[in-house]
Amino acid sequence: MAAFRTLALRVENLSISPKFLCCCLLILLANVACARAAQDRTLSIGGGTIDVTLPTGSLDVSQNDILDWVTRAANAVTTYYGRFPAKHLTLKISADDRNGVHHGVTYPEDGGVIVISLGRHTAKSDLETDWMLTHEMIHLAFPSMPRQQHWIEEGLSVYVEPVARVQAGQLAPEEMWFETVRDMHQGEPQADDAGLDHTHSWGRTYWGGALFALVADVRIREQTHNRMGLQDALRAILNHGGVITEDWEIERALQMGDEATGTKVLVELYHEMRDKPDAIDLAEMWKQLGITVDGKTVKFDSGAPEAAIREAITRKK
Ligand SMILES: [Zn+2]
Repeated sequence: MAAFRTLALRVENLSISPKFLCCCLLILLANVACARAAQDRTLSIGGGTIDVTLPTGSLDVSQNDILDWVTRAANAVTTYYGRFPAKHLTLKISADDRNGVHHGVTYPEDGGVIVISLGRHTAKSDLETDWMLTHEMIHLAFPSMPRQQHWIEEGLSVYVEPVARVQAGQLAPEEMWFETVRDMHQGEPQADDAGLDHTHSWGRTYWGGALFALVADVRIREQTHNRMGLQDALRAILNHGGVITEDWEIERALQMGDEATGTKVLVELYHEMRDKPDAIDLAEMWKQLGITVDGKTVKFDSGAPEAAIREAITRKK
């Protein structure tokens, strides 16, 4: 065994060039295989067209399972925004030997391009509970921001994705709130924080942005007697052309959202959070919304002061 291991290590160390060549050859062969065997399907959902390139080679899930997964994600996003947020989306799905759904990326080219990977042994249940494709499609529904405000692009996707899936009947509200309470603290500012525009850590980019979205949602509902929420603001931004292919300054989008709700919540919250560590009392927020997490279960208190706001956030509009 030892001899084998030594030999293996030597081969590994000595084989950089041959391995590189080998990879190139594999990529070349894979591209040829793709060109020959790639299967494209077109889906029409929520007023948008999705050109899907299906993965090639053997997978544990069927092509119909994959198309059902795409349809589910598109339906969740359509439910939340009132329509699919791209007239035409190119969705390229590839297969590899990693696990489950992974490596989703959304680009603004050609009206919107999403690339995402599936492990060959991804199970149908992995597709049924996947969040990543919904997250990527939500990126289509907001204009592209300067790098400083990348947090709002990610934060909106993180916050809206489970809400959209609950509204579409794909996720239980209990599960959504359990995970939100479990994870949202990752967005809180740390000791050296300089505000969302100047702190580009993973936690502040994804969860700091989600915290902005949650606080905005609750404040809009407080100020409109729960008639409107972040969803109305985001629909207005989308319907005024604020999509991923457009480069906007953040305040243009936020002002547009505020006009739709008749409030100043988004712009004022941005000014609060952009260049200083604005601490949010999450424990108090969960109490006001009537959410208690006990171990692995969540309990709702319908008598809490803002229970109606909690219910409205996940109600289909
Ligand atoms: Zn993202």
